[in-house]
Amino acid sequence: MVTTHNLGFPRIGARRELKFALESYWKGESSREQLQALGAQLRQRHWQHQSGLDWIPAGDFSFYDQVLDMSFTLGNLPERARGFHGDPLDNYFRVARGRSARDAEEHAVCCGGIAAGEMTKWFDTNYHYIVPEFTAGTQFKLDASRLVAQVREAKAQGIKAKPVLIGPVTYLWLGKAKDDSDKLALLERLLPVYAQLLEELAAQGVEWVQLDEPVLVTELDAGWQHALNQAYHHLKSSSVKLLVATYFGTLQDNLYLFSNLPVAGLHVDAINARDEVRPLLNLLPSHRVLSLGIVNGRNIWKTDLNAALDWLEPYAERLGDRLWIAPSCSLLHVPVDLACEQELDAELKSWLAFALQKLDEVKVLATALDMGRAAVAAELAANQAAIASRRASPRVTKPEVRAAIAAISPALGRRQHPYLVRAGKQAALLKLPAYPTTTIGSFPQTAEIRQARRRFKAGELDEAGYTRAMQAEIARSVREQEALGLDVLVHGEAERNDMVEYFGEQLDGYAFSQFGWVQSYGSRCVKPPILFGDISRPKAMTVAWIQYAQSLTARPMKGMLTGPVTILNWSFVRDDQPRAVSCYQLALAMREEVLDLEKAGVRIIQIDEAALREGLPLRRSEWTTYLEWAVESFRITANGVQDETQIHTHMCYSEFNDIIESIAGMDADVITIETSRSDMGLLEAFDDFKYPNEIGPGVYDIHSPNIPTQEHIVQLMKKAAERIPAERLWVNPDCGLKTRQWPEVIPALANMVAAARTLRASA
Ligand code: GLN
Ligand code: ZN
Repeated sequence: MVTTHNLGFPRIGARRELKFALESYWKGESSREQLQALGAQLRQRHWQHQSGLDWIPAGDFSFYDQVLDMSFTLGNLPERARGFHGDPLDNYFRVARGRSARDAEEHAVCCGGIAAGEMTKWFDTNYHYIVPEFTAGTQFKLDASRLVAQVREAKAQGIKAKPVLIGPVTYLWLGKAKDDSDKLALLERLLPVYAQLLEELAAQGVEWVQLDEPVLVTELDAGWQHALNQAYHHLKSSSVKLLVATYFGTLQDNLYLFSNLPVAGLHVDAINARDEVRPLLNLLPSHRVLSLGIVNGRNIWKTDLNAALDWLEPYAERLGDRLWIAPSCSLLHVPVDLACEQELDAELKSWLAFALQKLDEVKVLATALDMGRAAVAAELAANQAAIASRRASPRVTKPEVRAAIAAISPALGRRQHPYLVRAGKQAALLKLPAYPTTTIGSFPQTAEIRQARRRFKAGELDEAGYTRAMQAEIARSVREQEALGLDVLVHGEAERNDMVEYFGEQLDGYAFSQFGWVQSYGSRCVKPPILFGDISRPKAMTVAWIQYAQSLTARPMKGMLTGPVTILNWSFVRDDQPRAVSCYQLALAMREEVLDLEKAGVRIIQIDEAALREGLPLRRSEWTTYLEWAVESFRITANGVQDETQIHTHMCYSEFNDIIESIAGMDADVITIETSRSDMGLLEAFDDFKYPNEIGPGVYDIHSPNIPTQEHIVQLMKKAAERIPAERLWVNPDCGLKTRQWPEVIPALANMVAAARTLRASA
């Protein structure tokens, strides 16, 4: 018999119940007991959903983040979080967010707010975890209470629970040594605490424990490889059986090490590492369980069950009872239930599977393996029909898009002349002063804007009324910018709810779910649009808004677009073609928009690539390939314009050193970046030789409500001018201003403009 299991379930709730409960608790509008009760209710519901599986994850539920949970379990709290007098859950939120619900009143004097934990991306997903903090002196101390409680809870509900923990080596790998000490040196102190935890779980009657070690799909040096061996040799005598799980990629150099870990079972991502399953099996000692992650836990597509069975059956024969099957990774990265969707058309819906549907797939596969395909003939036939309909659909495959992709040549991505020639022509036309000032695109999304959008979507406001409301906002932004004396204006993006969704909604080949939410961090969720078919642009998407904005002013108005790489990286993408192909399709569609803007007389066009870095593969050896197609996609979008048209791009993250050549390769005339918090430090990457075009290093930290002073901005720009010739510098904020309020924005930008004038005067 094959064993079925799951690695983790989305905790946010099919209707984002956890999000709303958390936010209400943080605002002080509900009690801790209410929040705890909602948590218990969600766990119970999610366990029920999974009850047909042989092993069901426990401990994967979290009020904020599973890595932070692990830090609390291991007693590894940052120094600043110790000595808190309030409830442990409030302390947990304090570490996560810098404050908890009632801190401000109850603990204002003794132990109130602290710096929030640093957040970073969980491997190559859009989930963000709270980075564990270490020093050479870090001591660990077990607190198994949360896990034990959840295991008991599951048991009381008749659930066969398999607790899920982050493995010790991955836990260290994810953290940061605050004093630059060697994190690995802590392993010896950490392992006894893990061993103790496993015994506590064994005492609860736990049989299997899943230890996640996704570090195994990254490039590990000998020290880290040794740590894995050391860790599992230390834990091998524990009273529970261990399943070490890897996911998100291939094992490569770590394959042999992985296959030889002295544990009872191994889980491998049979989507991403399919070709490694055979060699792994050949290396696997004879009594080990092998869990194959056969259903993709990272996308929203139905599995081709017949093809999966073709592949699985020989393994089932060889492994017998030692075969487990599961989704490839935790289902944290997919929405909960496709059945909630009322607005997707039936055909498209038949191609999709969210978390619950993916678990059904696991069960069907198991039945087919145990009892033969005939036992699930109806399910397999329906699945085959859905797969065939998707494959044959003219909504998915469009010959004209295919032809355009086939016709892509390097010329498409090349400007007419090099930057220096263009810069001269642009300067003659735009006549901008030294240190030109601009903003990144969005202005505050006011309550009125959101209300107008909501009423428009609900059908309470007609198209003309909506257009008028947005035009009024654009007019307001233009007025404010003229009054401030900015040099290059923006229309303010009032009409955009989201920089990706806005374009997805207007492109053919995209679909939108109603409840397809995925946790990004804490209570924050994103609803990635679904890129399902070949992409085309039925008509211009932004031209009318920009033309309207330009009609209100004599100053240059920037056209504002999102780049193809960012649209791709923030979408659910197709599994039936390489990401690169989808990206090129987006590039061609966005190129048409660029050319239409140019035709409409727009002289400056900004193409945001906020998520370019996010797409970097886990392994460095694969970076070049990604960067090549990503940069080429941007170039195809941007570089069809005349020399006179100035192309801007914007990126908000703050690490450029290792990809600077690719950034330069995009060949935008101007790049604006986030630098204010690094005190211009990261401009180091942009020195003369490496980055020859113009740069706007952000001088205003838009994440903070603080108003930057004129002196501070001047000082930052002077620092920038030490690295980059002044004639190539722009003055702008770090990013868009949509999350700020007008009363904050106006004085901040006034100081920015004043700073630019000071700089010009002293030049
Ligand atoms: N143009 C966008 C804005 O200003 C850029 C947002 C971003 O970089 N994340 O909102
Ligand atoms: Zn930004």
